Amino acid sequence: MDLCNYGQLRALLDAEGFHFSKSMGQNFLIDASVPERIADSASLDAHTGVLEIGPGVGALTQQLCLRAGAVTAVELDGSLAPLLEKTVGTHENLQIVFGDVLKTDLPALLERTMPGLRHVVCANLPYNVTTPVLTMLLESGLFESITVMIQREVARRICAEPGTGEYGAFSVLCRYHADCRALFDVSPSCFTPQPKVWSSVIRLTPWREKPVQPQDEALYFRVVRAAFGQRRKTLVNALSAGFGGLSKPELARAVEEAGFAPTVRGETLSPADFAKLADTLVNMI
Ligand code: SAM
Repeated sequence: MDLCNYGQLRALLDAEGFHFSKSMGQNFLIDASVPERIADSASLDAHTGVLEIGPGVGALTQQLCLRAGAVTAVELDGSLAPLLEKTVGTHENLQIVFGDVLKTDLPALLERTMPGLRHVVCANLPYNVTTPVLTMLLESGLFESITVMIQREVARRICAEPGTGEYGAFSVLCRYHADCRALFDVSPSCFTPQPKVWSSVIRLTPWREKPVQPQDEALYFRVVRAAFGQRRKTLVNALSAGFGGLSKPELARAVEEAGFAPTVRGETLSPADFAKLADTLVNMI
């Protein structure tokens, strides 16, 4: 059946008594060109194993199955099981696992379902868990690329340049782990139910060798969080809230030693600048 034909999809959902859940971020694609374009963007081939998060009724899943060696889809909503059986159940390279991706042992899952393949992620993410899911995927170090549709506003934050209003701690985290690129925007009219906001497809390509390598990664992210915790304050003032053990003159000295003016604002620092600062602080705390 044509999963992106609204009439056919509605009939299937009604036949199974399915109700959309807002809390699970359920907005299903109904414009056939979009899942095709997302799957085309993910550079798939027979040697690739794709992790899909949230297959819904399978609009993107079927496109992934046509292009990849294997697909493992993790879906939180168990009530979608009979629908997925009808829509994508015949694909022999597909395994569907029901559960919360945030509570899934991903290394074990990939080893069990798609051993010996290169692993990528391709998904239309549930928007309410975008940040924790992307953080987990990036920190896992398991994937060669992560191609996902997310809210356009979050995509802009991830790809924002230092010094802009959209640049923040999450931009630094994503860019620390990966090359981040916005690919294309998707209108609310491509989904049912229609979300209130536009979406964007982005591709995060984790670095083979990270361009930014602070001496102490935990301290690096503590500095980043402190710097953005108090926006519109100078970096020294913002840091003093997160580093209570150091006085403002000590923090001002660290900022200057790292090569920045004492009046600089944290939101103008690049991921590499934050490493210079963290490496200066590492000997002071
Ligand atoms: N892939 C489908 C599409 O493009 O039409 C559905 C995408 S919909 C935006 C997000 C899907 O993620 C829903 O099917 C929802 O039930 C599922 N989901 C929500 N939270 C999840 C979680 N923590 N783990 C796995 N799946 C989740």
